[in-house]
Amino acid sequence: MKLTVLGYMGGYPSSTGATSTYLLEKDGYSILLDLGSGGLLTFQKYREVTDLQAVIVSHYHTDHIADIDVLQHALLVQSYFQEEQPILPIYGHTETLDAYESLTHKYTKSEPYIERETLNLGPFFIRFLKTNHPVPCYGMRITDGKQTVVYTADSAYQSSWIPFSRDADLFIADCNFYKGQAGNEAGHMTSQEVGYLASEANVKNVLLSHLPHYGNHQQLIEEAKAEYDGSVYLACEGFTWT
Ligand code: ZN
Repeated sequence: MKLTVLGYMGGYPSSTGATSTYLLEKDGYSILLDLGSGGLLTFQKYREVTDLQAVIVSHYHTDHIADIDVLQHALLVQSYFQEEQPILPIYGHTETLDAYESLTHKYTKSEPYIERETLNLGPFFIRFLKTNHPVPCYGMRITDGKQTVVYTADSAYQSSWIPFSRDADLFIADCNFYKGQAGNEAGHMTSQEVGYLASEANVKNVLLSHLPHYGNHQQLIEEAKAEYDGSVYLACEGFTWT
C-alpha cells in the first residue's frame, strides 16, 4: 500500500499546506482519509477527482472535512461529462447526525462505520478507535494483510493508542503541540507524547502531522526522538510511504 500526504497542517491551512488529507492506494483502489481545507486542490496534483473509491472522515471539525462540500460539487460538475458517474461512499460516524447526513449529496452517499466492527474497502481492512477529543472522533488502523498504518486523527494522549497501534508499520500522529505544552486541553498531542506512544506500541515509523503554525517543526522531531528509537518523519505535501 502507498500513502501520500496531501494535507498536514493543524486547524487551518498555511500558505503552502492543506489541512488533514491523506491518500491511501493499493492495486488501483484509492481512498482518502479526511479531506481538509485545500485537500482537493492538492489531490488533483496527483489524481483526477473522479479517481476515488471511498473517503473516510475521522470527525466533523472543519479542518478535516472542509473540502467534502467541494468534492461533492466537483463530482456534480464531472457528471455532466461522464457517461455514468458512480456514487462515491463517504464513511463517517453517526454520533453527529446532521454532519453525517451532509455526507450524502447527488454523487456521494454517507455510510456509517462502527468502532467494534472491521470495515472492508477494496484491499483495506479498517478498525476504529474513539479518540480523546472535544467532539466524537475516530482514529483508524488500516491493513492490507501485509502492512499496517495507524492514523490517530485528532487525539489528546490516551493509553489505548498503545494496544491499538501495536507493531504498526507507520504511525501517523497528531502532533499539534511541542513538548511541555498543554496539548491535552485542546484535544491534541505533544511531540513527547507521540514519541512515548510510538515507543510503547513498538511501531516501526512515525509520521508527525497536524502540525502547529508556529515554532520550528524540526524541534518536534527531536522531542519525539528523545522518547523513541525508530524513524520519525515530518509530514509535508507529497510525502509518500510505501
Ligand atoms: Zn478536531
